[in-house]
Amino acid sequence: IKILAIESSCDETAAAVVVNGRDVRSNVISSQIALHTLYGGVVPEIASRKHIEKINQVIRAALEEAQMTLDDMDAIAVTYGPGLVGALLVGVAQAKAISFAKNIPLVGVHHIEGHISANYIENKDLEPPFLCLVVSGGHTHLVRVVDYGVYEILGRTRDDAAGEAFDKVARAIGLGYPGGPKIEQKAKEGNPMAIDFPRGKVSDNVYDFSFSGMKSSVLNYINGCKMKNQSYKEADIAASFQQAVVDVLTQRAIHAMEEYHLDKFAIAGGVASNATLREAMRKACEEKGVAFYHPSPILCTDNAAMIGAAGYYEFLAGTRSHTDLNAVPNLKLGER
Ligand code: ATP
Ligand code: MG
Ligand code: FE
Repeated sequence: IKILAIESSCDETAAAVVVNGRDVRSNVISSQIALHTLYGGVVPEIASRKHIEKINQVIRAALEEAQMTLDDMDAIAVTYGPGLVGALLVGVAQAKAISFAKNIPLVGVHHIEGHISANYIENKDLEPPFLCLVVSGGHTHLVRVVDYGVYEILGRTRDDAAGEAFDKVARAIGLGYPGGPKIEQKAKEGNPMAIDFPRGKVSDNVYDFSFSGMKSSVLNYINGCKMKNQSYKEADIAASFQQAVVDVLTQRAIHAMEEYHLDKFAIAGGVASNATLREAMRKACEEKGVAFYHPSPILCTDNAAMIGAAGYYEFLAGTRSHTDLNAVPNLKLGER
């Protein structure tokens, strides 16, 4: 089964050709990061316009690189939510047009299901059931992947997502956008034990997360230093904040390993490319005798190969979308 996959939910215009869900023949990503850096974050209107400019080129490049044409495709998979409505619509409209013109089945894919499925690409042996920690720009979910396309959300963030917290703290210490990679870089020169930021416990669900308090205490720390005319080390803030986030994520993950006794654990989403998190999770899994999985960094952040992987299993399950497929900005995982 050859799938052309399209992703345009945020600030990456991406297309990929994926064969049988795990064999990536091309994975073309046109990132708008440089454009949005000017404004310190993604500007939805600019993102949509850029997607329109790029989408045809990106699809053509993906087909060329795979040395295939549209006529070779068995299905078109496209992200239809969650994400920015105007951005999503560009991919959805394009996918519907191709599907209609070429009479190829269309499969609408959940973006977060894509992030989780990125793990299938380089780990040919990985199959459900497994536990997965999804840490992206807009989501922080601890998920039990019961089967392909079947998800049970054990816990989620009550406020900011992990990636969002990285982005906000990076802005506060003047590192720019996107914050995750900048914080990770800066943290290398700092001491992770320098400042004891709160580990934000949420009382009624052991699997839920809260990052806004952590972010506020970073801001309070900076303001406190400024008021006392004290200097502060950005590298120490970056390292200590990163450590606090990693501790919270890993602690919840260990708890789930202990309760669910699944022998596989995967991480997914942009923050999953963070080396400190990977190392902490690798260690935790090793101690629990659980196999640890993670995608390469380029498959952690937004891409279309992951949509092709998720789309393949949806296609096998019989999911078909039609000309009435619409963008759903707040689509929940496990909903259709
Ligand atoms: P969502 O997938 O929830 O809709 P998104 O698509 O914007 O949101 P992703 O592309 O999965 O999010 O990931 C981007 C996020 O990952 C950003 O918040 C970014 O700061 C964060 N991130 C990327 N690299 C790293 C890193 N090395 N360390 C920490 N965070 C990172
Ligand atoms: Mg992005
Ligand atoms: Fe994403």
